[in-house]
Amino acid sequence: MKRDLRQKFVVGNWKMHTTATEAMQLARAVVDGIGIDGMGVKEDDRVFVMICPPFPYLALVGEILKGSRVLLGAQNLYPEKEGAFTGEVSPTMLLDLGCKFVILGHSERRHKLGESDAFINHKVRVALAAGLDVILCVGETLEQRKANQTEALLDRQLTCGLADVPADTLIRLSIAYEPVWAIGNLEHHATPQQAQDAHAVIRRRFAQMFGEKSAQALAIQYGGSVKPDNAAALLCRDGVDGALVGGASLIADQFLAIVLAAISASRTKRKSA
Ligand code: PEP
Repeated sequence: MKRDLRQKFVVGNWKMHTTATEAMQLARAVVDGIGIDGMGVKEDDRVFVMICPPFPYLALVGEILKGSRVLLGAQNLYPEKEGAFTGEVSPTMLLDLGCKFVILGHSERRHKLGESDAFINHKVRVALAAGLDVILCVGETLEQRKANQTEALLDRQLTCGLADVPADTLIRLSIAYEPVWAIGNLEHHATPQQAQDAHAVIRRRFAQMFGEKSAQALAIQYGGSVKPDNAAALLCRDGVDGALVGGASLIADQFLAIVLAAISASRTKRKSA
């Protein structure tokens, strides 16, 4: 399948959830659901689907994903090849386990674990250099949005997070716009218009940094309480190239319904292209 993540890229971030048994059952349900015929997925549907289990289950889940069209990703890494870093996981280990991608700069790591822009930038550069593809998460808090600082914040997180990233690795990078106030929030997700506007800000800034051609090739996912009932409205918006899904990715039927919405948005986009 030709790689074009802008044709919709749906990622399940399982965070610190599931037991080993649950992880295997969930992965199996996703693979079976997405398999050709499973839900009407056609060979030429260019929708990319990935799941990111907790570190301890990567190998187990990786076995289940083998031969399927579901990719394996990691939720984090430590930016060193190896060494005395107790409890950490290196890019080499992730590649060894079959991970294709790593999520970096997730708001939970920024806000709950105190990761700085500089540290995230270090991780981004090391991951790309090691051969992993990167999803860099950016997004404002509610206070920042209320104070009209969204654009400045996105500008800062992109400028710092992508500093010194080599141009020839940009093709392996995507961005997830994840407003902090919308993550894991049953009452609030960004409206399709808010998502589209923020994605336009991100693409504009990316173009300033790396040129228009790279910006047009960049996949930008929306993340923040994406559910089956709002996925279609978000995914059909111009510039919303996929979804980073937390809570709903833990329920196979919900995750598959979001993938289905992405497939349908992707087909519509291709027809009108
Ligand atoms: C996330 O984990 O990145 C996320 C967006 O979570 P949720 O879908 O639960 O808001």
